[in-house]
Amino acid sequence: MATAHKLDCESAANDCRFVVQSEDEGEAIELAKNHMKEVHGKDYTDEELQTEYLQSV
Ligand SMILES: [Zn+2]
Repeated sequence: MATAHKLDCESAANDCRFVVQSEDEGEAIELAKNHMKEVHGKDYTDEELQTEYLQSV
């Protein structure tokens, strides 16, 4: 089975149930970045998202 890249926003922002999951790591990061910016008003770099929040499942 292919590895999926997942970001569970609840671990970054309390009370947010947003989850990104994609087999494409770049896509997962981009979706997560847009969500963080639009919903939480926070700017994360690709690297921060990748190293601190993205999980492989
Ligand atoms: Zn969120």
